[in-house]
Amino acid sequence: MKEMMPENGQFAMPALKYEELPGAISKETLTFHHGKHLKAYVDNMNKMIAGSGLEGKPLTEVVKKAEGGLFNNAGQVLNHAMYFAQFSTSPKEPSEAFKSRVAKDFGSFDAFKKEFETKGATLFGSGWVWLSADGEGKLVITQHKNAENSVTEGLTPLLTFDVWEHAYYLDYQNRRADYLAALWQYVDWAEVESRL
Ligand code: MN
Repeated sequence: MKEMMPENGQFAMPALKYEELPGAISKETLTFHHGKHLKAYVDNMNKMIAGSGLEGKPLTEVVKKAEGGLFNNAGQVLNHAMYFAQFSTSPKEPSEAFKSRVAKDFGSFDAFKKEFETKGATLFGSGWVWLSADGEGKLVITQHKNAENSVTEGLTPLLTFDVWEHAYYLDYQNRRADYLAALWQYVDWAEVESRL
């Protein structure tokens, strides 16, 4: 995913490349999640950025430097842009090199997926589970509340599952673990690896 830059002081809505992810996320969920929730975050951020001193800056810099309401909205724009862009209806498998890195840091690819799902399922309240790379290139899984993101901790964010209820409640109600397990089939590892 390319760094998001504003044009004439306004960030554009991140595009969505699919209408549904059959068996994982319905068209109805995406209509609300992308079309309403993300749209509101983008609109709010664009209003709040005026006069903040962060006009014209790339989105990642806004997230790193903003506070309060601007941080909440900009963080949610970055998180959702990365979340929606990482899925595809024709996803690419992870490369052998990436699978080796995952196996080195988590024991195996299945062990990584299990830990990622567990950290997503056990995050209390609203937030995000992230796979990121640290300064030495080690892969780590972290939980973040609300609009937070591993980028503010100096990590390079690679993959995220949204565990706000708005991401799954229409399709899964309280079954957050089922939602998390269903997402893997659509993760486009070429996109994830491009973020390294
Ligand atoms: Mn969301």
